[in-house]
Amino acid sequence: MAQLSDDCFAFGGPMMSVDEAVGIIAARVTAVQEVETVALANADGRVLAQDVSAPLPLPPFTNSAVDGYAVSSRDLPKDKEQAFAVTGRVQAGASAGAPIKPREAVRIFTGAPMPGGADTVFMQEDVRVEGGKVVLPAGLKPGANVRPAGEDIPLGHAALKAGQRLRPQDVALAAAFGLTELGVNRRIRVAVFSTGNELVSPGEPRAAAQLFDSNRFMLMAMLARLGCEVSDLGIIRDEPTALAAALQKVAGAHDLILTTGGVSTGEEDHVKASVESVGSLVLWRMAIKPGRPVAMGIIGGTPFIGLPGNPVASFVTFAHVVRPTIFALSGAQQQKLLPMPVRAAFAYKKKIARREYVRVTLRKASDGALEAVKFPREGAGLLSSLVDTDGLIELGEEITLVEPGQTVGFLSYASLI
Ligand code: AMP
Ligand code: MG
Repeated sequence: MAQLSDDCFAFGGPMMSVDEAVGIIAARVTAVQEVETVALANADGRVLAQDVSAPLPLPPFTNSAVDGYAVSSRDLPKDKEQAFAVTGRVQAGASAGAPIKPREAVRIFTGAPMPGGADTVFMQEDVRVEGGKVVLPAGLKPGANVRPAGEDIPLGHAALKAGQRLRPQDVALAAAFGLTELGVNRRIRVAVFSTGNELVSPGEPRAAAQLFDSNRFMLMAMLARLGCEVSDLGIIRDEPTALAAALQKVAGAHDLILTTGGVSTGEEDHVKASVESVGSLVLWRMAIKPGRPVAMGIIGGTPFIGLPGNPVASFVTFAHVVRPTIFALSGAQQQKLLPMPVRAAFAYKKKIARREYVRVTLRKASDGALEAVKFPREGAGLLSSLVDTDGLIELGEEITLVEPGQTVGFLSYASLI
């Protein structure tokens, strides 16, 4: 199940940019190859395995876009209104009936098929009914208010592409084609555990110097949103043999092993040595703040990612390292994070050559523009800084100073996962 080639660890430079990391992951991690069939109702969020070409045009037949009166464009009143005999009535779902004759109109409703010979529809709001006839105004363009067959999607069009993560509107398109199920790549299996002697799981007794493990629940929730099957492996103590045993145990049965904590260079940070004892590992010193070294490795053919323990660092590095890895493993197209321009309502100084993420809340300024207000504190351990904000301002490597009023790029939390 080797989905990560060993030579991705050839990188030995001092600091890796975020783009470099994403590029390496996208290029080196290969997708799992198993396809399964899911009913449309279960397809949202799954990665499409094959292209879907339109088996019928959409709409499948030419129909009226409004409630009104269908006529032939040859008969359209040119200079002044004209009365037409109403010779038929077509409802949505009914057959189109007999073709219309010259100077006739047919009462028609939205979605109903156009009668033969009719190619233009007057909206009912624009006409008068008088003495059993309908009076149609001059000036309507031929073809108005009609939806021709295939105007949305022509027959055979490659409408959905393999590698697409299906959204509700994609599922709707498959349904409009009459499909009942789709071939999708199987879900990625991820084993998650936290490391640290100071951690206990919620529900367990907590000693004075311990804290409840929060990262594991954050990571599991983010993985679930990315469509993964998650194995919760709990908390492993800061003990190399326990760590090594836990890693080795889960390696074969998963596509990715994800841990949090213990990847710094302190004496009690044992993840690095433990991974090395059962597989191969590098520390990626990423030029990102918040975020510290991220450990990447392979254990028994299974990719391993070790995120930092500080919650905000864990969150940010998840978005930049784990997210693209999940896309690559699941055969999904990489989805670039595209920051939206907003106005900074804060000043900020930063180091050059490092990408920084500032936690902000959005508000509407008096001139209607969106303004980003910085969370007042900066610690990477502050969960409140993630809970009480809307997203992150991305400050590129080249930036050293942000002044109030400057345009900056905003990434909503919803866009990150
Ligand atoms: P580490 O990366 O292990 O050095 O941890 C850095 C900081 O993050 C320490 O203050 C840890 O207590 C904290 N931390 C580590 N893991 C978790 C976790 N799973 N949940 C909450 N905080 C954590
Ligand atoms: Mg630790």
